[in-house]
Amino acid sequence: MLNDLFINTLLLISFTFVGGHISREMSERMKNKFVSKVILGIAGGVLGILMMVYSIQVGTSTLLDLRSLSIMMISSVGGLVSTVITGIIVVIYRVGHFGINQSSMFAIVHVVLYIALFSTVNKMIKTPWKNWFAKLAIVILILDTTFLYLLKDVQNHYIIIFSFSLVVVFTGALEYFLLKYAERANELYKVYKADSTKDFLTGLNNTRQFDKLLNMSFERVIENNEKLSCLMVDIDHFKKVNDTYGHAVGDMVLKELAEILKKNCRAFDFVGRVGGEEFCVLLLDCPAARSFEIGTRIRNSVKEHNFPIGDNRFIHITVSVGTATYPENVENIEEIVKKADIGLYKAKQTGRDKVCDYEQCLELTTST
Ligand code: GH3
Ligand code: MG
Ligand code: MG
Repeated sequence: MLNDLFINTLLLISFTFVGGHISREMSERMKNKFVSKVILGIAGGVLGILMMVYSIQVGTSTLLDLRSLSIMMISSVGGLVSTVITGIIVVIYRVGHFGINQSSMFAIVHVVLYIALFSTVNKMIKTPWKNWFAKLAIVILILDTTFLYLLKDVQNHYIIIFSFSLVVVFTGALEYFLLKYAERANELYKVYKADSTKDFLTGLNNTRQFDKLLNMSFERVIENNEKLSCLMVDIDHFKKVNDTYGHAVGDMVLKELAEILKKNCRAFDFVGRVGGEEFCVLLLDCPAARSFEIGTRIRNSVKEHNFPIGDNRFIHITVSVGTATYPENVENIEEIVKKADIGLYKAKQTGRDKVCDYEQCLELTTST
């Protein structure tokens, strides 16, 4: 008896791990889509069938297996739609494969009760562990009552029912911890994944991610014969800000500047923090003249912006911007950042607070 129930337990564990792994890459929106609920329901039904394949026959036609736990798990993960689908599949297989008899009629009633009671529990009990163990109590109550009636003439039926109930409780409790574990692992995976691409201070792309986007953009530009512009933006005399107001204020300025950069670019451009106070902007499908305009817009927005430093006080800063555009003033696309850096160096060398490419600077004494 224990062998088959052990296989049932292993099936449930495997399903939980595989399901957890698949849902790892899915957004909440995707998970809530009707089609995802249907797929989950079908998967739960298949699990229920596999469990019945490894069930233990007691008496003339009673099957002992853990399919109730599969319905319970689907109810907790997918809600009503998935539970109904799992329930229907389980019933069809139970009746279709094992025939119509008293036990299979009870099996149908069980599924209907589970669907109704589990969805009531989902509505009424929101604390996850209470919700889970309330459902487990329902399962035990329904199964034990039924088996006490169906197996009353079987020898040692008390021992069989008691042993089976122990396995259901043990596997049910184990499944709760496995689901929690999978959920937590998925949350951490999402956080680490986001952290590995974002700069922790500003939320912009970090250097690694920016490099990836840069290479992707190269491919796209060459494929579509487009122009690509790059802006290197560096805060002027930022060390002074840190020295005068402290590092924390310096951080506030960096965050605020990140917002200004995002606001001044189009949604599909890429902005990254590629050094301490150095930012890089990739302007897709953008010619040199336009990149100078955008660079100037950034330079002016920063110059005019009141950067809050706490206690209702504000400071002003300026930035220098270097630009480069492929293919207009960059022959080899791989050198676009290097060329923009040369433009930035030129802006710093010739007085800061201006926009330059590697040949010329826009003299900007007033804002536009
Ligand atoms: P320049 O006009 O030539 O660019 O002068 P600068 O002072 O801006 O440049 P420098 O390279 O001399 O100094 C950069 C400063 O940026 C020094 C460093 O303390 C500061 N910095 C780098 N990363 C961070 C950071 O994450 N937070 C803060 N608050 N400051 C940072
Ligand atoms: Mg600087
Ligand atoms: Mg710098």
